[in-house]
Parts: sequence; structure tokens; C-alpha cells
Amino acid sequence: MIPVRPNDARESAPVVIVGGGVIGVCCAFALARRGTPVLVLERDEIGGAASFGNAGTVSPGHAPINAPGRWRELVRSMIDPLSPLYISPRVTPGLARWLWAFARHCNAAHVEHCRDVMAPFARPSPDLHDEIAADGPPGLGYRADGYVEVFRTSAGREMATHEADYARRLGFSPRALDARELAALEPSMTDSVLGGYQHDEGRTMDPFRFVEHVADLAERHGAVVRVGVEVDEVLIRQGRAVGVRTATGERIEAATVVLATGAYSPDLYRRLGCPLPIQPAKGYHVDLGGAEGAAPDVGHPCLLVERAVFCTPLPDRLRLAGTLEFSGLNHDLRRPRLEQLTRSAADYLSGINGAPVTSEWCGLRPCTPDGLPAVGPLPGSEGVFAATGHAMLGLTFGPATGEALADLILTGRSDSLAGLDPARFR
Ligand SMILES: Cc1cc2nc3c(=O)[nH]c(=O)nc-3n(C[C@H](O)[C@H](O)[C@H](O)COP(=O)(O)OP(=O)(O)OC[C@H]3O[C@@H](n4cnc5c(N)ncnc54)[C@H](O)[C@@H]3O)c2cc1C
Repeated sequence: MIPVRPNDARESAPVVIVGGGVIGVCCAFALARRGTPVLVLERDEIGGAASFGNAGTVSPGHAPINAPGRWRELVRSMIDPLSPLYISPRVTPGLARWLWAFARHCNAAHVEHCRDVMAPFARPSPDLHDEIAADGPPGLGYRADGYVEVFRTSAGREMATHEADYARRLGFSPRALDARELAALEPSMTDSVLGGYQHDEGRTMDPFRFVEHVADLAERHGAVVRVGVEVDEVLIRQGRAVGVRTATGERIEAATVVLATGAYSPDLYRRLGCPLPIQPAKGYHVDLGGAEGAAPDVGHPCLLVERAVFCTPLPDRLRLAGTLEFSGLNHDLRRPRLEQLTRSAADYLSGINGAPVTSEWCGLRPCTPDGLPAVGPLPGSEGVFAATGHAMLGLTFGPATGEALADLILTGRSDSLAGLDPARFR
């Protein structure tokens, strides 16, 4: 990682954070609580993009998407539009390059590398979330009783066992449960479920309420949050950040700029001479119950491994969330894929069919080809930092990302960011 000159909060203009998703607000909170002046600029609403409707699960033991052989699944998915993984047959040159790089990272050695790189983020994550949630609003629906990863087939058993091994090697202690133990834990489980693993390190919550709560904490520590402000350009003079220019032409002074724009705004990186290979990977949610009627009686959060669907009980709803669709930067809701969530869940849990649907949503995960986030200084633009690429784990690793980036910005170093350097894509 290139050396970073520490930001002296007493002398400089505020640190500007572009993007008010879970990553942006966690960075703002970590900096503000250390006394740094912070300004968050969000073009829409705080937490209104990918961070709005995700599965709401903290799953630090979850392996990256680059499983050995995963690229073959992606190729097969081009002919099965209902597969949990999906690539649009209209592959752009950018996506083709990304897929090629992704395929090269789908091997066991790289998964081990990801585990080593993410270990300093994974281990503290449950405690960081507990600390933030401690004074959270009741609507947050925070739970610290983990989640259970369940399977119905021998292939699913293998996947869940692989995931449990990955979590174990990070220092967590997943417990194998047989069908009888599972039925006792979650009585709505159907007879077809063979077994599962309970992951005690898991946490669940309403992810949008979480972002709101963290933004509120940051403001209580003095951060300023402005919404409806789109950043068009990072201003650089003699190789150093001096501020940002907004879409309305306003210039805002800043010696430090953090780009936490998720799957959006690749132009900001391109213009700085460091294009990041981020592809949007669409996922969907369906909420059952709530204002329209009772939610299905599912008490325990679960991950349905063969269909890669998370079922998360929220205060008045059951959220079904999943699918990984590479079809470009758009928010088209593909109904058959959305309906596949409910159909899949009904195979594992009773009470799903016929439950009232209260929300249907899609969001774009920011994905790098090596499955690791890009967090750190942008080469060639002193004072500019990337904080993106968290793929399926942005909620999980948001607080740890904020802490690590605040260390780097304020002290010039952060050991936990080794391996996430954006310069690796140059
Ligand atoms: C279906 C689904 C389920 C998921 N489940 C989980 C889960 O259970 N656990 C988990 O950890 N993760 C999960 N994720 C992943 C998680 O949602 C993402 O990793 C995370 O939300 C990414 O956060 P972010 O802040 O990087 O991006 P975003 O939330 O997309 O935020 C980026 C923000 O930047 C703003 N922005 C962009 N460009 C500009 C600009 N030029 N100027 C100003 N503002 C700008 C956008 O408006 C947006 O608000 C899931 C994702 C999906 C889609």
C-alpha cells in the first residue's frame, strides 16, 4: 500500500465522504467519533441504494463468491434464467473482462487468501455491530442469536460444510444440527430439510434502519450529512485532493475525499486515472407480512443453501433475499427471478405460500473480480480513498471498514487493510 500522509483534523477542511450507503455512513461515524470534521454527500436518500433492502444479515464467516468451479456455474446460468447466479446473455466488453478476471480467481488457494485478508475484518465484526446496535431504535429489530444454514440435498450438505469449515478457520464455531434439532429450533422447517449448521457469529436487523441509525450516530458526533447532492468530480491540484465539484457546480473544499459510491459512479474513479473493475450484481428481496397481514411464522433467521436465499425475520415482516445477477447497471425487476425467491423458500419453510407480499425490491452489490473489497488510497491522487467492492458483505463489514479507514486517514497506517489496496487492479 502506498504511504499515506495522516490527515490533521485540526487544520484541514472536513473529510468529504461521497455516498451515504452503509459503507459511507460507517466511515463517517468512525471518523466523527474520533473528533474529525466530516461531510457526507449523498445524491439521493441516505441508505436508499443497495444498503436499503439487503438480507440484513451480519455473516462474517461467509466465504467469498470465488468458490472453485463457480465460474462454470456462471457459464451454465446463461441458459438457466432462474438459477441463483445469472449472467445476461448480452455480455458487454467490460463484463467480459471482469468475468475473465473472476474465473482466474475461482480456486481454493484464492479462497484461502481471501480468508487471511478478511480475518481482521471478520473477527471483530459481531462485537462492532453489537456496540452500534446497543442504543439503536426498536425498529432496528437487532438480533444476536445467529442464523442457521440449512440444506435439502447432499450437494447442499457439501456446500454448507465447506462454509462451516471456512467460518471455523476464521475462529468461529458453527454447530452441525440434524433434522430433529433443526425442527426444534425452527418448527416451520419442512420435512425435506436434512440438516444444517448454526452460525452463532451471525446478527440480523433491518438494514435500512441500521444505516439511518449509524448516520444519526455520526451526526451526534458532529458529522454533517447533505442529501440530494451529486458529486461530479474530485478536484485535484498537483496530485493532491483539494475538494469536490457537485452536479450543480458547487465547489466544496476538502483535503481528504472518500469515495463510497457502491456499484455506481465508475466515472469518478476513471477520471482520477484509477478505474476500478466493479461490476453491479443485482439481488432481490420480497417481504412477506407487515401492514397487509401476518408474516409467516418463521422465528429463526436461516440461509437456504441450495437456493442461496436468506430468510430474515424483521420486526413485522419476513424478508426473503438473494440471487446474484450480472446484467449491468439497471434496476429492472425481473419478475420470474423475484418469484423464485418465494418458491424456493416454500420448499424449506411452511406458511410461505399465500402470505401477503408487502415489498418487492432489487439492489446492486458492488463486486470486484477477486471477491475482496477495495479500501485504501487511490494511486496518483493523494488524499483520495476508495471504500467499495463489498459485494455480498457490505452490511457485515461496514463498521470494520469504517474503523480501518479512519485509522488509515488519521494515522497514516492500518494493518487490517493490507490486501485490500485499490492499487492491486492497476
Ligand atoms: C439482495 C441483497 C442481499 C444482500 N444481503 C446482505 C446481507 O445479508 N449482509 C451483508 O453484509 N450484505 C448484504 N448485501 C450486500 C450489501 O447490501 C452491499 O454490500 C452494501 O449495501 C454496499 O454498500 P455501499 O455503501 O457500498 O453501497 P450503496 O448502498 O449502494 O451506497 C452507495 C451510495 O452512494 C451514492 N452515490 C453514488 N454515486 C454518487 C455520487 N456521484 N454523488 C453522491 N452520492 C453518490 C448512492 O446514491 C448510494 O446511496 C446484499 C445485497 C443485496 C442486493
